Amino acid sequence: MKRQGQIGWKEGKGLYREAYTESYYEVRDFVKKKMEEAGLETRIDSVGNLFGKLEGTDPNAKTILTGSHLDSVTAGGILDGALGVIAALEALRTIKESGKKLKHSLEAVGFIAEEGGPLGGTFGSRAFSGQVKSLPPQDALKAVGLTKEDIEAAKADPNKYGAYLELHVEQGPVLWRKGLSVGIPTAIVGITRYMCTVKGVSNHAGTTPMEERKDAMYDAAVIIHKWLEYMRNQKGVVCNVGYIEVEPGHPCIVPGEVKFSVEIRSDQEEKIKDAEDKLKQIVSQVNDCNAVAELFIQKPPVKLSEKIIETIEEVSKDLEIEAPRMPSWASHDASPIAHVIPTGMIFVPSINGISHQKDEFTEDEDMVRGVNVLTNAIIKLDEILD
Ligand SMILES: [Zn+2]
Repeated sequence: MKRQGQIGWKEGKGLYREAYTESYYEVRDFVKKKMEEAGLETRIDSVGNLFGKLEGTDPNAKTILTGSHLDSVTAGGILDGALGVIAALEALRTIKESGKKLKHSLEAVGFIAEEGGPLGGTFGSRAFSGQVKSLPPQDALKAVGLTKEDIEAAKADPNKYGAYLELHVEQGPVLWRKGLSVGIPTAIVGITRYMCTVKGVSNHAGTTPMEERKDAMYDAAVIIHKWLEYMRNQKGVVCNVGYIEVEPGHPCIVPGEVKFSVEIRSDQEEKIKDAEDKLKQIVSQVNDCNAVAELFIQKPPVKLSEKIIETIEEVSKDLEIEAPRMPSWASHDASPIAHVIPTGMIFVPSINGISHQKDEFTEDEDMVRGVNVLTNAIIKLDEILD
């Protein structure tokens, strides 16, 4: 685990392993070699996803897929993504070395470009699951040497897969604070984003009397304050105002236009709807300026497979590991895949809830417990799936 984390690592800064970069290819080669040493048959698809397969005894049985992604955010940690790929490799290796013959073929996967970038997040898994609904910009595709045909060719037949299992770091503090080793996501939160624009009139910041100003910043600040104040008291939903743009953006000019982004996440659609309604209501009440909230991203929450959740619960119980159900507040490769293949996830704790930066880590014993749950869940699924 730590060996892969050295590939793309910059001391004191973090992991630099963005998709389609040299360090990305280096880690993919490293994992491919490890897969081959473990006796898996490897292949790389047309967009760059890596697969390692262990044949099952029944050629008609569907494949059980497990893994995560090998790319990182810029200056990221060594576990986000890679842990799930190494865990998949370990699970398959353990099963093979045990001599146990499973009916279903097993496949470990290292997806590419899960982290947001010019191709859009979860790119590799969206290509695999046929969920690239709008093509990334031509320049972005050209920059990584891909074509529309490559994306189409990466689409797998979902009917050949019986399950997808992804082990991932929680990236939040829930399990760590409770001192638990494993959590079972029931759903991956939906993400809705708006861009709000407040239009006023820019003017001299000294000579324009206060009561005559159409100050876009004033109304933007009122909207943001009222909405965040309301949202802070809501449960089961989180929100963020993370981007703001001021025109013309000068200390001595009253702002004529302010744009800001709004993001809402929840595993319950009605909670997202309520937050949107409240935002629209506040936006419609501004006095001096014109304000609009425009929707630009709407990814609904994704429910994970109840059958797989129960399987993970059962094997955790057998291993005497307490594993509560919980939502996933971050998006994962599991989100697009869950639309076409029954999907489950296993979370392990993130120390201090830290992720997407160099200090992201998980205790060894928690990783081991997570891998044991994954391995046993695969074996159990082999028994219960067609
Ligand atoms: Zn990830």
